Amino acid sequence: MQIEKCKLQIGVAVAALLCAFPCFAQDEGHESETLRGRVVWLFEAMGEEHGVTVVPEAEKRVIALQTTDGRLVPIVEDVRGRGFRRDERLRKMGVELLVRRFDDSPFAQVIRLYEIKDGSRYELDYWCDICAIAMYELKHCDCCQGPIELRRREVK
Ligand SMILES: [Zn+2]
Repeated sequence: MQIEKCKLQIGVAVAALLCAFPCFAQDEGHESETLRGRVVWLFEAMGEEHGVTVVPEAEKRVIALQTTDGRLVPIVEDVRGRGFRRDERLRKMGVELLVRRFDDSPFAQVIRLYEIKDGSRYELDYWCDICAIAMYELKHCDCCQGPIELRRREVK
């Protein structure tokens, strides 16, 4: 039963992947961009930079990339974006994000996440050893419900 559920989920993931690439190539109104910096809470960073004070419930509402040249780029909170909320390790490292930018919005959507460390680049995701599947955020495994690990793979 569990294995069948696994296979179904892998099938759905593959179908989504096959769909995503042609859609990505054909869509108008956005383009991809590579940005480097550190992931922060937008309003905390604006507090530090500009003395802006928001109401307490808004402090951790919006995730942003503080780029190496000092810009604050808000991040769409899909499962990739929520990954930064769920795992504080991702907010402590130097990162490179491949993002989708939209003509009519300041928000960027994360497509791929890398850690930049000592001049090397590591692609990051989460991995379940038992099911051999990757996920985009820290949680229990989609398949076996067991623990998953942050996976770092060096990109040459
Ligand atoms: Zn698993």
